[in-house]
Amino acid sequence: MNRLAGKVALITGAGRGIGAAIALAFAREGAAVVLAELDIETARGTAARIAEQTGSPRVLAVHTDVTQRASLQQAVSKAEEAFGPVDVLVNNAGINVFRDPLTMTDDDWRRCFAVDLDGVWNGCRAVLPGMVERGAGSIVNIASTHSFKIIPGCFPYPVAKHGVIGLTRALGIEYAARNVRVNAIAPGYIETQLTLDWWNEQADPVAAKQATLDLQPMKRIGKPEEVAMTAVFLASDEAPFINASCITVDGGRSALYHD
Ligand code: NDP
Repeated sequence: MNRLAGKVALITGAGRGIGAAIALAFAREGAAVVLAELDIETARGTAARIAEQTGSPRVLAVHTDVTQRASLQQAVSKAEEAFGPVDVLVNNAGINVFRDPLTMTDDDWRRCFAVDLDGVWNGCRAVLPGMVERGAGSIVNIASTHSFKIIPGCFPYPVAKHGVIGLTRALGIEYAARNVRVNAIAPGYIETQLTLDWWNEQADPVAAKQATLDLQPMKRIGKPEEVAMTAVFLASDEAPFINASCITVDGGRSALYHD
């Protein structure tokens, strides 16, 4: 408890899934949390649940589209007005765009990069000037095991997620001397709506789910809370010398060559 006491954290895409779990974990650890989310109704509902579960009044939902630079800057301004300077940014909002490279449309490519890579950069550049000036800050980017590994048929999502690691490392080095840390988390399969939607799009959703479970060394997929615990650690003062790094949260799946 109180590992993030006194901090202000802004989490993108926090209305549901991994982002919502991170917002709840951060609030439990004493942070003021801003849920920067495209679907404001979902965000408000999640914010109300977090306030109720933690007893914290310092929970705010803000309509945000991470593809728009001005929208993120506005979200940061609202966070500052409500709670003060943003100490922690979690760039979590992301979408799956899984296509065949040669039949994919230009719109698919642009949509994927607009959310999954531009969205992360837009978040970073909205908070970095203040963090650099104050000489303190922690940015946590939610990457993916697709940042290192390729599954056929998932193009161009892994291209954008590889970019998230490049961005994390580049910015981590650029601002290291200003005491601003930039790190990433690479989740494997996590049970969220994103994953459920993917299973449901397959010809046999039950078989698709079983096939996913069979691939896992721990014979289960991860929970959003398990990613959130890692985000708390990276955001906190317990990780002062971890910078430009990525922590993989996948139960060992990406280390497995084959059974
Ligand atoms: P969900 O789809 O459950 O949640 C994503 C949230 O982001 C939604 O609330 C969504 O809102 C919001 N969002 C989408 N586009 C935007 C936007 N332009 N601006 C602001 N918010 C937006 O996904 P997960 O929780 O599963 O994923 C979170 C992150 O984790 C993503 O970056 C994803 O790539 C990554 N990840 C997930 C894995 C998994 O297995 N689940 C594995 C590896 C990485 P709305 O519903 O309105 O679209």
